[in-house]
Amino acid sequence: MAGMDESALGLGHEDEVEEIERLHKTRGWRLDFGQNLERIYRADHLPRAVAAFQHSSIFIFLLYSLLSSGIYLLMPEGDMRAWIGLYSWVGVIILLAGVFSRLHFLDQWFSLYAGVGSFGAVALSVAVTGVVQDPVAGQLTQAAVMYAIVIIYGVVGLRFTHACIAGWLGGFVGGVLADALGGSVSWELLHRTFTGGSLLGMFLSYYAERRDRELFLQARLLHISHWRTENYAQMLDKLSRQDALTGLANRRHFDEALEQEWRRALRQLSPVAILMIDIDHFKHYNDSLGHPEGDRCLRTVASLLAAHARRPGELVARYGGEEFVMILPDTDHAQAVLQAENILGSIRRAGIPQPPGQERAHVSVSIGVSTALPTPDLQASELVDAADAALYEVKRSGRNGWRYRAPELAPLHVLNETARHRVG
Ligand code: GH3
Ligand code: MG
Ligand code: MG
Repeated sequence: MAGMDESALGLGHEDEVEEIERLHKTRGWRLDFGQNLERIYRADHLPRAVAAFQHSSIFIFLLYSLLSSGIYLLMPEGDMRAWIGLYSWVGVIILLAGVFSRLHFLDQWFSLYAGVGSFGAVALSVAVTGVVQDPVAGQLTQAAVMYAIVIIYGVVGLRFTHACIAGWLGGFVGGVLADALGGSVSWELLHRTFTGGSLLGMFLSYYAERRDRELFLQARLLHISHWRTENYAQMLDKLSRQDALTGLANRRHFDEALEQEWRRALRQLSPVAILMIDIDHFKHYNDSLGHPEGDRCLRTVASLLAAHARRPGELVARYGGEEFVMILPDTDHAQAVLQAENILGSIRRAGIPQPPGQERAHVSVSIGVSTALPTPDLQASELVDAADAALYEVKRSGRNGWRYRAPELAPLHVLNETARHRVG
């Protein structure tokens, strides 16, 4: 199928399909894909992550408020100031991140602000455990560390690696911060909350991302297969309306286009013209030079004709054998005749050599012209019949020229011809 590129054939995306198949077989424990697929995945994942966080940030803030009010009621006076001083910032972080997720120009920075926010929330939660003195209050703040860890791994929607960096770095910086504020974290307890929680969180986050990526690959394959099917359908539709030899519209396409233009012209009260164009003495051309040379001539004439159909709605089709037809919407008698003259001029200037044995040295055509202002009781096919009848007249009177017939004259003309033949 010369002239059609790969994508027009409904193929394409081969590399991607190959990569997906390879990933299915040899992925191992790795999460990320190859460069190209990874880029598509991230572009697909980001808006989903932001949208999910928009909703979950409200839930996270409610959880934070509930937890804080519970701790507040049990917090002894002595630790209250230190606790509020640090832990209220966690609330500020959640609120800010929630607001950021609603500002869409910040979407591309989601991993950054959600990651930094998560890091800050963990660091503050861990630091709080080091600065409160009361043992009961200390246990409450340890519970808050668990909450923070569960949320950053499971709810915020960070990718696995980002959640790990935010979580572990947050824990480390929280310990340093507690020291800097004159407290000290109890790692004996924190290993049960922070470390244990982080390991569990990592496990869950890893599998959640893996599943998300699997689903992405499935969706991608479906998308590609859908795209290919659509392309095939378009290509088949195009082929079914195209003449294989000349690339012009075929008879079927012509019939559809004519009906459509006819209805449009009927609505807009505008004239439609039909030109029926037939190569003169083509049998002789074919017989003398052979079929392949005949095909070449047909293609040359087709491309010359196609150059004359430039306005929207104009169409040249191969009507059959060495016969072509042209639809000219919004074209009256004078314009149609002018178009016929132009075509005759083009063919003459092309100077396609005619094999010896004919009166003319070059290939010529005969053109039947017909125009009509559509009315409800006039059929489009009557216009074609009239152009055909006009073409027959040109043939009879020496070829290489045009004749005009209005549709209503056609039946009469054909009757007369039939009568004359009978008499003859
Ligand atoms: P006229 O001037 O009256 O039109 O005579 P003609 O010889 O052109 O017309 P006729 O209908 O007798 O012959 C048409 C020829 O067109 C017959 C056939 O060999 C040739 N033809 C039809 N389709 C093709 C095609 O696809 N390729 C080639 N090479 N020739 C074709
Ligand atoms: Mg012919
Ligand atoms: Mg013919």
